[in-house]
Amino acid sequence: MKKSGWSFLFITAKSFSRVRQVSISGFMMGFMMLFLLAGIFGLIRIFWFTASFCGAKFGVYDARKDNEALLLKVKFLSKYSDKETQQVNELISFEDKTRLQYGLSRISKDVRMAGVGGIPTKEDLILASLLDPVLMNAETVKENIQFLIRKAELQDSTLSRMTEQVASIHKIWASRPSIWPTIGRITSGFGFRIHPVIGENIFHEGLDIANKPMTLVYATANGVVEHAGPKDYYGNAIFLKHLDNQAETIYGHLNKITVKNGQHVKRGEIIGYMGNTGRSTGPHLHYEVRILGKCVNPLSYILPSDAIID
Ligand SMILES: [Zn+2]
Repeated sequence: MKKSGWSFLFITAKSFSRVRQVSISGFMMGFMMLFLLAGIFGLIRIFWFTASFCGAKFGVYDARKDNEALLLKVKFLSKYSDKETQQVNELISFEDKTRLQYGLSRISKDVRMAGVGGIPTKEDLILASLLDPVLMNAETVKENIQFLIRKAELQDSTLSRMTEQVASIHKIWASRPSIWPTIGRITSGFGFRIHPVIGENIFHEGLDIANKPMTLVYATANGVVEHAGPKDYYGNAIFLKHLDNQAETIYGHLNKITVKNGQHVKRGEIIGYMGNTGRSTGPHLHYEVRILGKCVNPLSYILPSDAIID
């Protein structure tokens, strides 16, 4: 008689000589299927966990690599920032020296630091030390670079201002009478004297320098020709205006004039030749310096060296 239920055929190992047939009930079969499904589900879970773990491990590895790369970048930025800081400090040193040379007021440390705050404090650094090395270094470098940028911006501003001031000083220097107007022997100084032509004790408002006729005569400062030609007892004369009309130089008794009215001249430029025109007893140059319209001793406006100063 045939039994109801499921029948399975099991093939045994070699040591068993027989093939056995086992019958199980439907309930048992259902239970076994459930068990099998649970097993498969468990395997999937294990596989998934393993895959996740491996993935995470690779992720950590990648993060470490990224960290190392970031650290290298931070170190590079730090080195770059140090180099730039040194250059800015050299500029500050140059500006300080230049200001001293030109008699300009020095920028105080307080002013240099004004609005330049942001240097990491001790507390910042302690707090930063609690962070990971990359972040700590990055924060420090960031602060340093921000500080450097503000410092450089201020430096740019003060240096530009100083450059303008120095240019202005150079312009004033170049326009201030300061060289000999010609080469020769002083025959009459500034002040009272017996006039060689009229024989009276009158004030000599300039300096007489005698030499051979046609000795070169130079502009003693940068300026503009106000007059070039005959002028009363000066004979052939040149009047130059300097320093926005605050100063004037006069060159009298010339033989020949090589400039024209309104012409701009540079210090050391040839403007004419020595002569004996006007109220004069021999070839010489009468040289006058006037400051704000008042005659002054020209010797006070000639540097000890006869070098042409620019
Ligand atoms: Zn004179």
